[in-house]
Amino acid sequence: FNLPQAFNEPALSYAPGTPERARLKAELDRQYSQVLDIPLIIGGEEVRTGTLREAVCPHEHGHVLARYHEAGEAEIRLAIQAALDAKADWESTPWEERAAIFNRMASLISTKYRYILNAATMLNQSKTAHQAEIDSTCETADFFRYNTTFMEQIYRQQPESNTHTWNRVHYRALEGFVLAVSPFNFTAIGANLATAPALMGNTVVWKPASTSILSNYYLMQLYKEAGLPRGVINFVPSKGSTLGRIVLDHPSFAGLHFTGSTGVFNSMSKTVADNVGKYRMYPRLVGETGGKDYIFVHHSADMVEVATALVRASFEYQGQKCSACSRAYVPASHWPQLKELVLGMMARIKVGDVRDFRNFMGAVIDEASFDGTMRYIELARNSPSAEIIHGGHGDKTKGWFIEPTIIVTTDPKFVTMQEEIFAPVLTLFVYEDAKLDETVQLLDGTSPYALTGAIFARNRYVINRLTEALANTAGNFYINDKCTGAMVGHQPFGGARASGTNDKAGSFLNLIRWTSPRTIKECF
Ligand code: GLU
Repeated sequence: FNLPQAFNEPALSYAPGTPERARLKAELDRQYSQVLDIPLIIGGEEVRTGTLREAVCPHEHGHVLARYHEAGEAEIRLAIQAALDAKADWESTPWEERAAIFNRMASLISTKYRYILNAATMLNQSKTAHQAEIDSTCETADFFRYNTTFMEQIYRQQPESNTHTWNRVHYRALEGFVLAVSPFNFTAIGANLATAPALMGNTVVWKPASTSILSNYYLMQLYKEAGLPRGVINFVPSKGSTLGRIVLDHPSFAGLHFTGSTGVFNSMSKTVADNVGKYRMYPRLVGETGGKDYIFVHHSADMVEVATALVRASFEYQGQKCSACSRAYVPASHWPQLKELVLGMMARIKVGDVRDFRNFMGAVIDEASFDGTMRYIELARNSPSAEIIHGGHGDKTKGWFIEPTIIVTTDPKFVTMQEEIFAPVLTLFVYEDAKLDETVQLLDGTSPYALTGAIFARNRYVINRLTEALANTAGNFYINDKCTGAMVGHQPFGGARASGTNDKAGSFLNLIRWTSPRTIKECF
């Protein structure tokens, strides 16, 4: 038998007048006009705790989309038990059948669920139609399809045998359950964090971010409709501190699949270290954390390409991609030209409700993000070494709106060149052309992170030199392209240093972490 060949789900345009646009609008209206009651899902059962929290639109924070039930200690324990109970049947299901369920998930997305997931991601996470399409539809379906082929590659890796012995590797799942903790910024990441371990035969306790509950709940409906058995993924929105205390203390805790802040991943890793003697196996810790991603421009670059990349990488989805560009290094010789190009593009950017398809940006995710970002902008406003050349204002009366903001600094170590802000703020440092090597060293030493980075140059020698000199600054490195938009099957994604364990989402490297292989030698 052969598994279906994986492919990337093509993105729809939702251009005016298309039937797809009409269908998406209708789904947006449907989801906007109801207040959904979102239960926990444990062992396939809906559980209601009565501890209710609101899911709102970031661009209209007075509008409630859903009320979700928050799990307490008892429900978290129940979810762990449900995962453990489901394990034996799921793990012994032939892997081709697990692949079939995942391919069915992808097919359901490319038809019915595309609209449901896109609308939920737009309303609750404030993504534009295009950003929702490439995330909750395309990337999610891509993870499902490609992961099945990576699973096959792993299982088909077998050692040598001979006439007297048969050697084989049995790729067991981990002994216990896996905890998935997902962020708000990509619906696809929530999908991959919970399903990648599940595909490999594990069962999962999934804590979604409180600010992406709507799309994440619809994912659970998709899994059910595709035939994922009960208990394989258990959905428990909860407070991180309560969840961490119970899950990381459990003897059957076998793995953490995490995307979020460096601080939270560090603190969970410390708890795991403290508890290490309690566990049945050494838990796998797989985390993608913060970033301070950069674009480095050489004077041989095409400046129109650079301007487009800077604007897209920094401001699409309000700069809330882990991969978003938040610092740039540009050569003094070309800065006047580049500045004019960038400001010309910025003048056309519209910010507002994502249901108006002309807007390029929505709101940032919540009040904490809004306030934190405005504090950074104020630091720049009050600093003699920084100048705000575009934007710099926010308005939180109706939604958490922040203007796309560009800061130019004369201090390459200015706070906004170093710290992750996770919002639409780009800081630029203009370097003297003659100080190329020095500036590259500066870049390397400015932040603890190493997630994504891009260089723009046409000179081949310069491309080679920069690629080598910047080897440790990014897990995903781009030459003459923006630093966002990794595609599953094409650019396996993940960062090093303080950006994570670099177990490359969307590749066999990630899936192999969810196995605990047993080597079997049989003599004839
Ligand atoms: N994979 C996404 C990209 O390349 C970023 C994922 C993230 O934000 O963690 O843009």
